[in-house]
Amino acid sequence: MTGAQKLYLPEVLKGLAVTMGHALKNLLNPKGMPVISFPEEKKDLPPTTRGRHRLMKREDETPRCTACMLCATACPAECIHILAAESADPDVEKVPQKFDIDMLRCVFCGFCVDACPLDAIRMDVPEIDLAGYTRESLVYGKEFLMNHDNKDIVANYNPPRPVVWTHGPHAKP
Ligand code: SF4
Ligand code: SF4
Repeated sequence: MTGAQKLYLPEVLKGLAVTMGHALKNLLNPKGMPVISFPEEKKDLPPTTRGRHRLMKREDETPRCTACMLCATACPAECIHILAAESADPDVEKVPQKFDIDMLRCVFCGFCVDACPLDAIRMDVPEIDLAGYTRESLVYGKEFLMNHDNKDIVANYNPPRPVVWTHGPHAKP
């Protein structure tokens, strides 16, 4: 370190100058501040956003999943819990009797989606602000993952919306 750096005070003042510079810039131009008033305002999500899971269905409304456990095995957070049952369809060996995802443990890595050989699980529901009052409410079960609002949400999401950044360096005027 140079002598001036060893004194620390000039460096502290330099840091303060940077902070005050940003503060003044934002005060003079509040619209340029990279802030959104969540939850009233929500940021537009890029179409590639990895959101909440959903379980895909066959044409007869049964789950596409065959309870092969590959997703649960690939999951680093061990938050997928599947109970397999025999399928009534002779062409399908197994179905999930229970398929729970503990969203409080999920790290949104997408390994489960990559591991699935049947495209039975997707992470394309554009919900990222998952919240609840109890732990149990954030353990999503099979029925929820197959049905809950998925149709409307995904209908509005696919084809992907154009990327429109509402704030930050990519924001459009
Ligand atoms: S996204 Fe990752 S952590 Fe979450 S359930 Fe899938 S594999 Fe597990
Ligand atoms: S979602 Fe896919 S990987 Fe997971 S158990 Fe079902 S078929 Fe297997």
